[in-house]
Formats: sequence, structure tokens, C-alpha cells
Amino acid sequence: MSAEATNPDAQSRRRGLPRIDLRRLGRAALLGPTSRDRLPDAIGHVAEAHRAHHPDADLAVLRRAYVLAETSHRGQFRKSGEPYITHPLAVTLILAELGAETTTLTASLLHDTVEDTEVTLDQVRAEFGEEVTYLVDGVTKLEKVDYGAAAEPETFRKMLVATGNDVRVMSIKLADRLHNMRTLGVMRPEKQARIAKVTRDVLIPLAERLGVQALKTELEDLVFAILHPEEYERTRALIAANSGYEDPLTTIADGVRAVLREAGISAEVLIRPRHFVSVHRVQLKRGELRGTDFGRLLVLVAEDADCYAVLGELHTCFTPVISEFKDFIAAPKFNLYQSLHTAVASSDGAVAEVLIRTHQMHRVAEAGVVALGNPYAGGGPGDGADPAADEREDPTRPGWLSRLLDWQQNAPDPDTFWSSLREELAQDREITVFCADGRTLGLPAGASCVDAAYAQHGEAAHRCIGARVNGRLATLSTVLSDGDTVQLLLAQDAASGPSPDWLDHARTPAARIAITGWLAAHPEGVKVPAAAPRPQVSVTTDRRSAANAVTDLPDATVRLAGCCTPVPPDAVTGFAVRGGAVTVHREECPAVARMTALGRARVGVRWGETAACRVTLVAEAFGRPRLLADLTEAIATAGAAIVSATVEPPSEQRVRHTYTLQLPDAAELPALMRVMRDVPGVYDVSRAQHPAAAG
Ligand code: MN
Repeated sequence: MSAEATNPDAQSRRRGLPRIDLRRLGRAALLGPTSRDRLPDAIGHVAEAHRAHHPDADLAVLRRAYVLAETSHRGQFRKSGEPYITHPLAVTLILAELGAETTTLTASLLHDTVEDTEVTLDQVRAEFGEEVTYLVDGVTKLEKVDYGAAAEPETFRKMLVATGNDVRVMSIKLADRLHNMRTLGVMRPEKQARIAKVTRDVLIPLAERLGVQALKTELEDLVFAILHPEEYERTRALIAANSGYEDPLTTIADGVRAVLREAGISAEVLIRPRHFVSVHRVQLKRGELRGTDFGRLLVLVAEDADCYAVLGELHTCFTPVISEFKDFIAAPKFNLYQSLHTAVASSDGAVAEVLIRTHQMHRVAEAGVVALGNPYAGGGPGDGADPAADEREDPTRPGWLSRLLDWQQNAPDPDTFWSSLREELAQDREITVFCADGRTLGLPAGASCVDAAYAQHGEAAHRCIGARVNGRLATLSTVLSDGDTVQLLLAQDAASGPSPDWLDHARTPAARIAITGWLAAHPEGVKVPAAAPRPQVSVTTDRRSAANAVTDLPDATVRLAGCCTPVPPDAVTGFAVRGGAVTVHREECPAVARMTALGRARVGVRWGETAACRVTLVAEAFGRPRLLADLTEAIATAGAAIVSATVEPPSEQRVRHTYTLQLPDAAELPALMRVMRDVPGVYDVSRAQHPAAAG
């Protein structure tokens, strides 16, 4: 069910509606007087916007999609009271204005039909074909009924996998989210904040990485208004106050035009106002805003080479602020974005930031992958082409997306996937390092040799014992820089494995998930006892070991024998050793027979059913009376003990509680997080990197 839809009861609505006869609808679209009269008005804006980018586009299929969507959503209303069809129409208009091609728009009109109405994927396939069906299915949410609290992470996982085959899935999702964010005002504040956070942590980074600047900036402002209402209001007031003055950028723009005219470079020079978040960022950076900080100059030229010609003239005729110069043409960011950035000071000291790009770069900067057209013309999605084959050239399948699709397969549960995804997307810069064999690896900035090892060798990286960076021996914790050459040294011994402190140096989900998985499967290698399953020891048969205070054995030191490395659920037996410790062997270990033959007493041991763990969680919530009491009660009811807690002073009615908790069983963590999220007022609970201060 869509976040924005009123949901009387999807199931009963499904039962209540008659099955839709597509042929009848098709005839109605052609013949029915009502449809014929209403059609041009309702979808006219979409058709117009589409034709502006694609003059030859066939509009018949859009009309058919509209008729099906309108008929099947009829009787449904948005929370605002508007007919539901206004939503798919608005989403489609957003995409049409960005220049999306016809198939994307067709799927966009239908994007909520399979989720919310009687229409089935088979019907969509019969009427609109495989590609449209693939896109609609890609954005269709998984049912909360079947997936419970995991529905949202699992839906995103499914959507990202679908995006790997056809990036247009994400185009539709981003436009869908933009319209939902525009109309979020009717929701309860908690729900607004929760949706805004997912938008901030997942959808905005995806929009950025897929180069859809126009969606990204509007989403940023909408999130800003919800999550930081006071700062938003302050920024709005600043912008409003400034608009009363004459824009000092106008004078500089005139100067730039004159310089370029004299140099014989034909260029368009525009003033682009910054969006709210951008103004806010500049203010944080500088402390105080200058009159020229409310916008930037945009210089549009015809050819790539003209960009550098413009730059040369500006740096000659004005005083350049060298620290502001960035060349995103030679070295594009991980999205499709290309531009030259610089800042120049005019003779009176006013500084203006300038963006220089071609018209084509500008179109791509605004619309990113949405404007690529059908990237699969000639072949359907998922037609078996090797996905890794041309990752670097293919803007629809960038390196970060391939990596993401790779590690998500190994994420053991929805919560790990969800937190890893948010961490991965929080990385805002990529580096490239060179392997000894000449291959290149794309890694997030801040990645270490541990990350490089797993990126290059996969599971074999468990055997990594060291590295050479640029020819010199380096520890695995060494953070890599762009352009480094790294050679990983692997042990021959297949039994060696990662150490828990590798987790401190792993930034990529691929490495973190692989290390965590290995450690869980090899508890004897774990140096952090709280994170590992520990056998609980109890005496069964041997009365003589009563000499060791054995009835109270939780305190006994338990060692897992190195010879047979027992792992749950192996059958195990223990032997008391000097100092009161107990060594645990597998039943079939030769050492057991040997020691029994020597007359050594057996100590009965069994695996604990649980793996205790210590974890730090951050709960973000709207402040209210009894919030702390309700949260701690929820934690206690879930069986976790609070080791320490920090409560930050409220800011804008929002509070952040950090709890370090002892859980009897690590497997209970997702359930605990769910219970905490269900406490009224709480809009997010996530894992934290650092424990709460003692308190
Ligand atoms: Mn929708």
C-alpha cells in the first residue's frame, strides 16, 4: 500500500471490485463519450511535456495506460481527499518534464495499479508488454501482511535488484517519492519524519548517484522543511529578505557576458538561485552569507572545449578563487554529472560561484538517467547479458550499483541490509585503486586494505595477512587514497581467518558482511566474547569435579579446543583443565577418546541456545512526556538489559536516545528494534558505531 493512500482495507476493496475487462476499457477509451471528453484534459499536460522532449512519441499507449489507471483507481482517494489518479498523473508529469521516454511514462501511469487495485501483472503484460510489466513490478511494494516490519527494507532490496536490470525502475520510484513528499503535509508528524528520513538516507543519495539533480534538490528542500523546521524557516526568511535587494550577481553576470563576447565565445550566462539546503550549507560553511551567496552563475556553451575556453577567460579577467575550482568534466563524480566549478571575484571584491557546462551536460545534470532514453533498445531487461561486462562505460549500471547488488545477496537479514544500505549510500566520494594485476577497484573514500581485500578476492580475503601499498608493506588497517596501488598478501593456510578488529577498518558492506558471517561461523576465533555463542557448561555425570565449584559454572572459563574447533550444533564434551577452566571438544575428536582412556573426568557441556551480544542503538523521536519510560519499558519487555544510556537535550522537539544494551540472544535484535520503533513518537531506531556514555 502506498504511503500516501488512504487505506480503508486493501483486501476488502480487492474483493469488492469486479475484475476489470481490459478490452472493454480499451473500447471505452475509443468510444465512450465520458472518457473521450475527459481524456485530453487529464493527460494533456503529460502529453505536452512528453512531446516537448520527444516530438515523434506515440501517445496512444499513454492514453490506454491512463484509461486503465483511472478506471481501476476510481473510488480511491488520497488522504488529501483528491481522487487517487491525481498521484500517478503527477508522477508521470514529473518524469515527462525530465524527458523520460514513453515506456517509463506508461509504467509510471500504472505504477500503483497492481499494488492497490484489481489489476494484475498478467493483465499489464497482456496489454502493455514485458518491459512495462517489469517496471511496474519493480516499484510495487511487498505486502506488509506477508513481510511485516521487514516489508520496507525488502521492498527496497527488490527495487534495487530490479534497478540493476533496468534503471528506469528507480526513475519511477524517485518521481513517486517526490510527489509523495510534496503532499506529505496531511500525514501525522511522526509518519512525515519517518518518510523524510528514509528519503534523506536512501532516495536522495540514489537520486544523486543516478544524476537526477532536479529531483534531488527538491527532495532535499522537502526533507529539510520536515526534519529541521526551525532552520528551514530561518533560511526561508533569509532568502525572502535578500530578494528585496538588487541581486549583486546581475552585475557580475553582465561582466562575464562582456568578457566572453570580447573573446568571441558564444555562451548563455544565467543566474541560478540556490535551493534552500544549498543556501543553508553555504551559511554553515561561511558563518555569514554574502549577497552573492543566494545564487550561482551558470554558463552554458555548445562544445566541451568551450567550457575550458570560458574558464580561461574568467580566470584571466577576474580574480579566481583557486580553492573553489573543480573539474567534473575530466573526472566526473560517480553520477553522470559533468561541469567545471569555479569562483571569481570582481574588482569590488564580490565573489560569485560559477558553473560551466555544455547544453548537453546541463540536460544530463538535471535529469541524469531519466533522460537517457531506453538504455536497452534492442534487448529486453534481464536478457542475459553479463552484468559485469561493461560496468565502467555503462552509466545505467555504475560500479557502486554492481557492488551493492553483490553484497546485498550476502546480507543475512533485512535489518543488516537496511543499515548497510544506508551506510553505503552515506559515502559521498569514490576512489580508484590499482591492483597488482593491473585491474582497478572502485571503493568509497575512506576504504582500507581490508575493503580492497574483499573487493578483490571475495571470501578468499579471509586469509589475508598483510598488504603492500605503493610497494611498501602496510597493515590491513591502512586507509587507501585515490590512485594507490595495493597488493594483498594471502596466507596459504585455508584455516586462518579474519580478526574481529578488521570490522573497525571495513567501510564497505561487502567486507563487513563477509567478516561478520565468518566470525559467527567460527566462534573460537572470536576475541570479543559478548558477540560469540558460548557454550554453557554444566556438570552431568562426574561428581569428582565438584572439587571445582562446578554447580555455578557460568563463571567458568570455557575454551573451545583448537584441535577440532567445535561449532554449534556439534555434539560436544568438556574436560576440566588446570585453573578451573573447561576445554570443549567435539564428541568424535580423537582427543576425547585419548583423555577418556587416561581416566580424565568428562564435564557435561551443551551449547547455549543463544548468542549474547552487546549492541548500541539510537532511537530518534518526538519528545513527549513518558517517552523515556515507555522506551525503557519496551526494551525491558523485549528482554534486553540497559548497560548505559545517553539522552541528548531536545532540539526542535526531537530527542535522540542512545542505549547500549545487553541482549541474551543476538537473533532478538531485529525484534527489539521493531518494538522500539513501535513506541509512539519514535520515528527511527538504528545501530550506532559508538557505545552510549555510561549513565
Ligand atoms: Mn505511488
